[in-house]
Amino acid sequence: MRLILLGPPGAGKGTQAARISAEFMIPSISTGDMFREAIKKQTLLGKQVEQYISRGELVPDELVLGIVAERLAQPDTANGFLLDGFPRTVPQAEAFDRYLAEKGQSLNAVIELAVDPEILVTRLSGRRVCQNCGAVYHIVTKKEKQTGVCDLCQGQLIQREDDYEATVRNRLAVYTRQTLPLIRYYQEAGLLFRVDGTQPISVVYQEIMTGIRERVGQ
Ligand code: ADP
Ligand code: ADP
Ligand code: ZN
Repeated sequence: MRLILLGPPGAGKGTQAARISAEFMIPSISTGDMFREAIKKQTLLGKQVEQYISRGELVPDELVLGIVAERLAQPDTANGFLLDGFPRTVPQAEAFDRYLAEKGQSLNAVIELAVDPEILVTRLSGRRVCQNCGAVYHIVTKKEKQTGVCDLCQGQLIQREDDYEATVRNRLAVYTRQTLPLIRYYQEAGLLFRVDGTQPISVVYQEIMTGIRERVGQ
C-alpha cells in the first residue's frame, strides 16, 4: 500500500498517519519529523534546514528529495508506506513520480484532508507534541491524561516553535502558494479523494479507511 496524505498544516495528517500506518502495518514517513530530528541532533542536514523551518518556509526540493530517497531505501518500506508532508511542491511530486516509475511502482491513493484556515490557526496554536515519541495532542480537542506528559511514553509535551502564531500565518500562505497546486495534480492523475478534516478524529479516520478500501478493493 503506497499512500500520500495531503493537507494544510494542522489538517490532522500526523494524527491520522499514526492510525493508518498501524492499520496497514506500513511506516508513516513524515519529512517534517525527519527534519526536526536532524535539527535536534545538529547534523549537517539539520543545520541546512533550520532557518527555513523556523521561518515557516519550505526546505529546498533537493534537500527534501535526498532524505525521502534515503528513507524509502530502508527495508521496512517493502510493503509500502504512507507519506505525511511530502510531496509539498509540484516539482517534488514530479520527481517522486519518476522515482516510483523507475522502481516499477505506483501510488494507490492520495488523501486530501480539507480544513478551513480559521480552524487551522486554532489547531496549530493549541497543538502540543511529545518531545520523545512525536505523538500529537491538542490543549482542547485531544488532551493528555496527565498535564504535560505523553500518554504513550511519559515524554514531555512541548509546543513546536513554528506553531507560534506569527509563523503559522506564513506557513498557511506558503501552503496555498506552493502545495495547493498538488491537489489538481493528483486529481488529474485520478488518485485523489477528499475527506472533511473538521469532523472528529475518529470520523475522519473512518472516512479515510472507506476511501482507501474503495480504491484498492479490499
Ligand atoms: P498536521 O500533521 O496536518 O499538521 P496534526 O495531526 O498535528 O496536523 O494536528 C494538528 C492539531 O489539531 C493537533 O493539535 C491535533 O491534536 C489536532 N487535531 C487533529 N485532528 C483533529 C480533529 N479531527 N479535530 C480536532 N482536532 C484535531
Ligand atoms: P505541518 O504538518 O504542521 O505543516 P510538518 O512537520 O509537515 O508540519 O513540516 C514542518 C516544516 O518542515 C515545514 O514548514 C517545512 O519548513 C519543512 N518541510 C517538511 N516537509 C517538507 C517538504 N516536503 N518540502 C519542503 N519543506 C518541508
Ligand atoms: Zn511520547
